[in-house]
Amino acid sequence: MDFALTREQRFFKEQVSRMLEHIARPFADAIDKSDNFPIGVFLELGRLGYYGIRYPEELGGMNADCTTFTIFAEELARASMGLAAIATMQCLMGTDFIHRFGNDEQKKRCLIPAIKGEKIGTIAFTEPDCGSDLGGIRTRAVKNDKGYLLIGRKLWITNGDVADFVTVAASTDPDKRLGGIGFFLIEKGTPGFSVGQKIEKISARGAATVELIFDECQIPAENLMGEEGKGAQYLNDILSEIRIMIAGLGLGLSKSAFSAGLRYAREREAFGRSIGEFQLIQEKIAEMEVRIKASEFLTYHAAWLKDKGSLTGKEAAMAKLYSTETACFVVDEVSRIHGAYGLAEEYPAQRYFRDGRFLLFGGGTSEILKTIIAKDTMKKSEFDIT
Ligand SMILES: Cc1cc2nc3c(=O)[nH]c(=O)nc-3n(C[C@H](O)[C@H](O)[C@H](O)COP(=O)(O)OP(=O)(O)OC[C@H]3O[C@@H](n4cnc5c(N)ncnc54)[C@H](O)[C@@H]3O)c2cc1C
Repeated sequence: MDFALTREQRFFKEQVSRMLEHIARPFADAIDKSDNFPIGVFLELGRLGYYGIRYPEELGGMNADCTTFTIFAEELARASMGLAAIATMQCLMGTDFIHRFGNDEQKKRCLIPAIKGEKIGTIAFTEPDCGSDLGGIRTRAVKNDKGYLLIGRKLWITNGDVADFVTVAASTDPDKRLGGIGFFLIEKGTPGFSVGQKIEKISARGAATVELIFDECQIPAENLMGEEGKGAQYLNDILSEIRIMIAGLGLGLSKSAFSAGLRYAREREAFGRSIGEFQLIQEKIAEMEVRIKASEFLTYHAAWLKDKGSLTGKEAAMAKLYSTETACFVVDEVSRIHGAYGLAEEYPAQRYFRDGRFLLFGGGTSEILKTIIAKDTMKKSEFDIT
């Protein structure tokens, strides 16, 4: 088994890391403190072509594999979680349905400008009363002679305040639950579509999460992405990729926080020694190192399987679960190593601590991931030797 990075992937990693070191990392605190959309960095990533990382070259993309996209996610999160949330939305969930199901005109109007960073796209399925349970959404898409009338509200929508277009989950037949879900393209300026409240949050700041309101919003039939009732299946088709990407984000955050913790443990003195010489601090360092390494293996192994065409949902779920829980463990330990300074705004430890929480929900909560892993494992496990 060899899933080491290729020469091209290593080169990409160095290039992205250098680029983000220059255009993003120095501004991570400012993005976090202001909670403003970092328009300058966003445009620069578009100019450099990164939003097309997963898309074919004829659309202006890079046609990169899942491993390369995971590297990009990891490096983004190492630099700034707010920026990572914004950019990965643009590369994957916010644009993927148009790539797969949009007509030429929709691709020309939305996808190609989004790849260049000239337009912003997002996805909206979560509602005020409904998150993990996609089949329970209340937003309706009522078919009429002009197409569909969308009625409902969405909440927690990343980039929703700045989005030029949104792929929205709505039900054409609520009794069918998941079998009634469709995804619909709504563009800014469509009558009945408006942005509601912004949720003030502590994590991934800079990437605003807002309410979107669809008040009898009329759209043409061609704005249905794919077929009626198949939306849940279409979302499921990219769920593993979303999970591997978020595992990459977890890895990036773990590494940034760990580096800060290590630096502090070497420099801070107590009782006449550096605190890194105390065994209880060393235990934290060792535990973090091992868990980060295991996260790296699980994450890139899942990406490698995806690139080979043999990924299972369980592998992707395990990568996301372990990497994001590890990130939350690491940011907690790093905060403790910093003592009182772990709470001080002048140190990044508090930002890492808050940003870890962002990773736990999108792409499936840890509880949902465990149910997926357990269900699969109950049927068959490679470790069951009986
Ligand atoms: C920063 C941020 C950005 C986001 N951006 C977007 C976005 O752009 N678009 C979008 O549509 N959504 C977005 N979301 C929403 C995200 O997808 C949801 O938070 C996620 O789907 C979980 O839903 P929920 O928060 O409503 O939790 P719920 O589903 O209400 O779950 C609450 C708790 O119950 C547990 N639970 C639920 N069901 C089960 C079960 N069957 N078994 C065991 N435990 C269960 C969960 O694990 C959790 O602990 C964002 C969220 C955050 C925090």
